[in-house]
Amino acid sequence: MGREKSMLKRTRIAQVLSSGEIGSRFTVMGWVRTRRDSKAGFSFIELNDGSCLSGLQIIADAELSNYHSEVVKLQTGCSIRAAGILAASPGKGQKVELKADEIAVFGWADPETYPLQKKRHSFEFLRTIAHLRPRTNTFGAVARVRNAMAWAIHNFFQKRGFIYLHTPIISGSDCEGAGEMFKVTAFDLGHIPQRAGEVDFSKDFFAGPANLTVSGQLEAEIYALSMGDVYTFGPTFRAENSNTSRHLAEFWMVEPEMAFCDLEGNVALAIEFLKEIFSHILQNCREDMRFFERFIDDSVIKTLEALVSQDFEILSYTEAVKILIKADQKFEFPVEWGIDLQSEHERYLCEKVFKRPVVLTDYPKAIKAFYMKLNEDQKTVRAMDVLVPRVGEIVGGSQREDDHDRLYARIQEMGLNPADYWWYLELRKFGSVPHSGFGLGFERLIQFVTGLANIRDVIPFPRTPGNLTF
Ligand code: ATP
Ligand code: MN
Repeated sequence: MGREKSMLKRTRIAQVLSSGEIGSRFTVMGWVRTRRDSKAGFSFIELNDGSCLSGLQIIADAELSNYHSEVVKLQTGCSIRAAGILAASPGKGQKVELKADEIAVFGWADPETYPLQKKRHSFEFLRTIAHLRPRTNTFGAVARVRNAMAWAIHNFFQKRGFIYLHTPIISGSDCEGAGEMFKVTAFDLGHIPQRAGEVDFSKDFFAGPANLTVSGQLEAEIYALSMGDVYTFGPTFRAENSNTSRHLAEFWMVEPEMAFCDLEGNVALAIEFLKEIFSHILQNCREDMRFFERFIDDSVIKTLEALVSQDFEILSYTEAVKILIKADQKFEFPVEWGIDLQSEHERYLCEKVFKRPVVLTDYPKAIKAFYMKLNEDQKTVRAMDVLVPRVGEIVGGSQREDDHDRLYARIQEMGLNPADYWWYLELRKFGSVPHSGFGLGFERLIQFVTGLANIRDVIPFPRTPGNLTF
């Protein structure tokens, strides 16, 4: 049967509402949010299909053949098809409504057991029903904004000629020597082969230890040093037992890597990137953003608008530390040159001192990863962090060390084994070039945009310590 003749041909509610085609006939399909019966003998059904925050108001007249047998039994969560003529709505709250001449029920939802009855549920409760929470306004809005941000990220890089690179999820290397990785094995865990009292990985699937990746950066550098500009955008895993509102065990990371690019070019790209993503969301997700502004955090739109229009303040770590030492505010973590800045320090710089986003550069080498390019002073590296109000660090990046001998020395200095990084070192032997990149946690960015306090609420199926229900 052709799709034209299919009973499942529909128009999305977002399209019906934006069409404004009063007098046209539409078929819509979705899930009932509410049903109200008027004394005059007809019913109002609010239908949502996920295509936008707004539902479509459907007028179901008692003349419908199944009005008494089915329509008046519709409850929150039932799925239906409704067809009819779009009309101007005399009621408050909506411009148009669909005067149904046909309503068919796909599936019922027993009000005694369907969990989404009450209007408002706590986010904690909704996390326990991850199979139903996208039917709520908040999680529908998050899903649409997340989708729009993913599109904007690809668009940003594609427009500039970056190659989208798929780096491996199963990794043989521990990117930053930072531990906290999930192991990947095909061993029967009841009978793990041993040799001299240790696990014999030579008998495992990969004939050696394997992990889930914590970052695609090192592999992205390989492709940057052949393709020019590349980016990764994929899942990343951390087995750190941090039960915070900002950490997931599985999250998505965006990592551009650019050949022939120094720290200044890197900073410029990161600023351009943030501005473009935020203005895309402001322009394309207005209804959802207004919802977040009203129900989640009343500053979200103002914050994004300010970021898009303001210049970012760029200064060195050393200059920032001088400012923090002189600050008229008491910090929980005292400041001295060499410390890793805490979010209280980062927020103070953005919110109190500069009143705008801040980029800090040239951090002490001891608090940064081994691959960052050493400055002439031998004390600092060409690192950069982009700090924004409310959350602090949102992007972290650096110019990479491109000198073989200096990189070799840094690897040793950090207590790592140069043999594990033989291929990474070889990139500095054969046609090495200045190159830079940054990393950005996708969920942290969505938290910033939507104002949602807990990172578990901006990813469809959060993985956190002790939590793998879905
Ligand atoms: P944090 O200090 O917050 O744990 P990090 O220094 O470990 O972050 P990086 O290793 O620099 O972070 O990772 C790059 C980006 O990935 C971070 O800026 C952050 O946005 C994001 N990120 C890091 N760890 C997590 C996590 N567990 N869950 C979600 N996002 C994360
Ligand atoms: Mn961390």
